Amino acid sequence: MTAPPRLAGGHWPVAVVGGGQAGLSASHHLTRRGIGHVVVEAHRVGHEWRARRWDSFCLVTPNWQCRLPGFPYRGGGPDGFMVRDEIVRYLEDYAASFQPPLVEDTTVTALRRLPGGAFELGTSRGTFTADQVIVATGPYHTPKVPRLAERLPADLVQLHSSQYRNPGALPPGAVLVVGSGQSGAQIAEDLHLAGRRVHLAVGGAPRVARFYRGRDCVAWLDEMGHYDRPVDEFDDAEAVRVRVNHYVTGRDGGRDIDLRAFARDGMRLYGHLTGAEGGRLEFAADLAANLDRADAVAESIKDAIDQHIAARGLAAPDEARYVPVWRPGPGHPRTLDLAAEGVAAVVWATGFRRDHTWIGVPVFDGRGYPMHWRGATSCPGLYFLGLPWQHTWGSGRFEAVGRDAEFLADHIDANRRLADVCGTLTGAPTSLAPALPAG
Ligand SMILES: Cc1cc2nc3c(=O)[nH]c(=O)nc-3n(C[C@H](O)[C@H](O)[C@H](O)COP(=O)(O)OP(=O)(O)OC[C@H]3O[C@@H](n4cnc5c(N)ncnc54)[C@H](O)[C@@H]3O)c2cc1C
Repeated sequence: MTAPPRLAGGHWPVAVVGGGQAGLSASHHLTRRGIGHVVVEAHRVGHEWRARRWDSFCLVTPNWQCRLPGFPYRGGGPDGFMVRDEIVRYLEDYAASFQPPLVEDTTVTALRRLPGGAFELGTSRGTFTADQVIVATGPYHTPKVPRLAERLPADLVQLHSSQYRNPGALPPGAVLVVGSGQSGAQIAEDLHLAGRRVHLAVGGAPRVARFYRGRDCVAWLDEMGHYDRPVDEFDDAEAVRVRVNHYVTGRDGGRDIDLRAFARDGMRLYGHLTGAEGGRLEFAADLAANLDRADAVAESIKDAIDQHIAARGLAAPDEARYVPVWRPGPGHPRTLDLAAEGVAAVVWATGFRRDHTWIGVPVFDGRGYPMHWRGATSCPGLYFLGLPWQHTWGSGRFEAVGRDAEFLADHIDANRRLADVCGTLTGAPTSLAPALPAG
């Protein structure tokens, strides 16, 4: 490894903030274009996967979708699902493959635009400047836990899904998992398989079958062009961006997550968590509807696959459709007495908030979401990379972050060439640069 660049007082054509898969992909494309840059990472490459995933974690997307630029998955199981430590190694090997100019253990704490258009980045190791900046700090910053958690009994162990490691790390007893997105459904399964009594508050997340008619549904959807569809083709693009992911798992070679089957086998399911009073929790009457809706989504995906097969006359084995194996009865419980049921821990699988408060450049909308087109903002030279649905489904995933990185690298290259001709990134003559508005 080459020695990391010294940041304080330095200037770079491009600063990349974040050394995850997005930041590394950006660095790869900048390197290929010979554009000077530095990648600043708060921890170490692969931090999110190493530090914030549970022990049995594995990808939900098949390995063949791991197509980081210049470094597609080359292991022996393209249709399999890398486990946590393999994902970390994949990222470490990626970095080793092209030696990005990486500064680790350094947090960018402030970003502001200077008069004239360059950027100043304050970090835990001093301040430096850059002509252009790519923010690749990931989409999942601050664990989101509802304030209702403050009203639960003090002796109950509470943790966010990003802190959950394994069933043995929780105190003996039953566990309540709140949330049934990808994390909640998989953590509930992890605990259930370990023989724990699990209570699961089921939300509105959709589900998808793992396999259908002889192939992984992801392979069908890929062939159908689903993953190439740009977000601006959707009428409800903003809603698409914040949609909860479908639950399914890659565990043990991949399978469905069928919450009804878990309930049949002893897991206790409830609807949305709505209240807490003296160790007694209340849930909405939406469990049946939530399960039905999740199944309906899974079946609609199968409908689309059927149509695709029929339209192209493809040979694919027939497959019977899903039949629900359990339904909540009319008197299904909507309360949970934590002490009576021996609940010792709560896992909040309730998502994350973005934190871009360190960015002092006015490019955010009313919800704090960066306004951008394919990652380019209205502030010349400031970009985002790795946002969910930044451009397509795979933007916030291994599948297409490389395509977005390439797009931005081209944009940055064009800006750089423009600046060479015009003097500044904004295209204004250099003599006027100090008069341009900052921020
Ligand atoms: C539970 C879960 C399961 C997932 N499963 C899949 C899956 O199966 N397949 C798939 O393709 N994707 C999956 N994803 C989505 C996605 O691949 C990950 O979120 C991925 O980590 C995003 O990569 P990134 O580089 O954009 O961000 P991150 O991996 O979050 O990396 C951002 C980096 O920036 C650093 N950083 C943050 N702030 C600063 C700062 N101010 N200064 C310096 N550095 C900073 C962080 O330390 C981090 O290393 C999953 C996500 C989650 C949460």
